[in-house]
Amino acid sequence: MKTDHFGKDIATVLLTEEQIQRRLVEVAAQVDEDYADRDILLVGVLKGAVVVMADFIRCLESHVTMDWMAISTYGSGTKSSGVVRILKDLDTDLDGRDVLIVEDILDTGLTLSWLIENLRSRGPASVEVFTFLRKPDAVQVELDPKYVGFDIPNEFVVGYGLDYAEHYRNMREVGVLEPSVYGR
Ligand code: 5GP
Repeated sequence: MKTDHFGKDIATVLLTEEQIQRRLVEVAAQVDEDYADRDILLVGVLKGAVVVMADFIRCLESHVTMDWMAISTYGSGTKSSGVVRILKDLDTDLDGRDVLIVEDILDTGLTLSWLIENLRSRGPASVEVFTFLRKPDAVQVELDPKYVGFDIPNEFVVGYGLDYAEHYRNMREVGVLEPSVYGR
């Protein structure tokens, strides 16, 4: 769905469909080069990464497999609690695998640093991160994702898989949510 249909809920469009697709092609080319001759296991984090994963895998030339985890940190609010719970674990054994986590957004980094540690403890050959969005001004932990789609301002964004109270995931662009919506 196009951002126009969400009317006044969106304060500004940060990233258009064209910008997003162009950047995914660039990141995929880098990943293809870095992982030449290695099978990548892409690990997506539900539900926010569904949209970026769907577009990203189709930009890759490498052989990949894909698995999903569901973890909970957020509820329906706009602030990260840092408390992580596994709602759905991986089906894949990570022993010796080259894991590339695909995340929707790196905000404080609390969720991702927990996830990296968790996956590392399962004996993979490597664990790297592709985060579609990163808020450099919000990051609270030492974390250096190998691939970053876009650095964005420290505002609450929705669209392209990212929700507020489970809405707006189907917006094709990424936009800043009008703060008055939080109060609903
Ligand atoms: P962190 O632990 O890095 O603070 O938060 C990571 C998770 O919080 C993301 O996976 C995402 O679900 C949620 N999150 C953080 N910032 C935003 C945002 O601006 N918009 C939305 N929709 N979710 C966010």
